[in-house]
Amino acid sequence: MVLSKKAKQITTSLTLDITAKAKKMKAEGIDVIGFGAGEPDFDTPKNIQEAAIKAIKEGRTRYTAASGIIELKQAIIGKLKRENNLTYTPAQIIVSAGAKQCLANVFQAILNPGDEVLIGVPYWVSYPELVKLADGEPIYIETEEINEFKLTIASLNRALTSKSKAIILNSPNNPTGTVYSKDELMEIADFAKINNLIIISDEIYEKLLYGSNDHISIASLSEDAYRRTIVINGLSKAYAMTGWRIGYAAGSTETVSLMSNIQSHTTSNPNSIAQYASVEALNGNQDDIGKMIGQFKLRRDYMVEKINSINNLSCIKPEGAFYVMVNIGDVLNKSIDGKVIKDSIAFSDVLLEKEKVAVIPGIAFGVDNFIRLSYATSMENIKIGLDRIARFVENI
Ligand SMILES: *Cc1c(COP(=O)(O)O)cnc(C)c1O
Repeated sequence: MVLSKKAKQITTSLTLDITAKAKKMKAEGIDVIGFGAGEPDFDTPKNIQEAAIKAIKEGRTRYTAASGIIELKQAIIGKLKRENNLTYTPAQIIVSAGAKQCLANVFQAILNPGDEVLIGVPYWVSYPELVKLADGEPIYIETEEINEFKLTIASLNRALTSKSKAIILNSPNNPTGTVYSKDELMEIADFAKINNLIIISDEIYEKLLYGSNDHISIASLSEDAYRRTIVINGLSKAYAMTGWRIGYAAGSTETVSLMSNIQSHTTSNPNSIAQYASVEALNGNQDDIGKMIGQFKLRRDYMVEKINSINNLSCIKPEGAFYVMVNIGDVLNKSIDGKVIKDSIAFSDVLLEKEKVAVIPGIAFGVDNFIRLSYATSMENIKIGLDRIARFVENI
């Protein structure tokens, strides 16, 4: 049987592989410390839970408009105005089953075969695969740790061709935690304008910031940037709602209506109950968010200091999200118990085997001399896990 060539070039998610192995060990009763989490370890705030229960009891359990209920679109419009200084009408908003579905819809809506999408390395695992699924071509832009893994205009210019169609911006960034300044965003907006590129701005971590700067949406920088940007956001990370599957996108009416048509034939509306709960998330009391951010900041500070105190490991201090990229370059090609640590997968495998600590190999994000640690886990776990990593590295 000849199955789809397109589907066959989609990679399995490396992040999920290691997580599955760690879960299996845990189920066998082994005391594994997991740094793999791509989601907050907090419960969804009470007021949001209650709004969902109310929605069920009131019978909000049927199909809704495919692109989302108007109440939620209005809440999103209010949020984008209040927090991001962006003005949209309901026809410019789509609600999807997570930001990931918004991204899938966007690429389907904007790409023709062979169109190129500029993606900074390290990248979020799904960007290249979603581009390929839409017949586009991911173009990888190398960055440097010393430059906080930021895209530079020089590197973008080198990657540019006549087929360049769009650029993905993800600030705060997964996996690096990097946050772009207003000036850097202006440079990227200018670059997009000069080269007539669509900007896909994934702002899912906007609330998880630990420095003094507020989040700035690139779409808010100029009339031109507003017109060429599709803002991607969602409830998963900020409101600890990963399982509820609600994300949204805002952009031109033309693009959003194509995205809505695609969604209407693939999944129809996102879960009706979760949509009503999301109205409460956006419009209701925000105190729980502040508490989560406070916890994340404490954990980040501890983690960064501890990692940099370990010989042969280092990391830069991430300004947002909940991940740290740890540079393992100094231990590569050395060995432990006769096993050579030749790359990030070997490091992660042997670490899991020997010290029962699960981390994500950097190669999942396109960089083989790093591992990613998530601090979406308790301080107690972080302390124990980092002590084990320290012992592991000392023995290499
Ligand atoms: C988690 C994540 C998403 C997707 O989140 P959803 O749960 O689908 O809303 C999108 N982009 C990045 C960078 C992420 O880390």
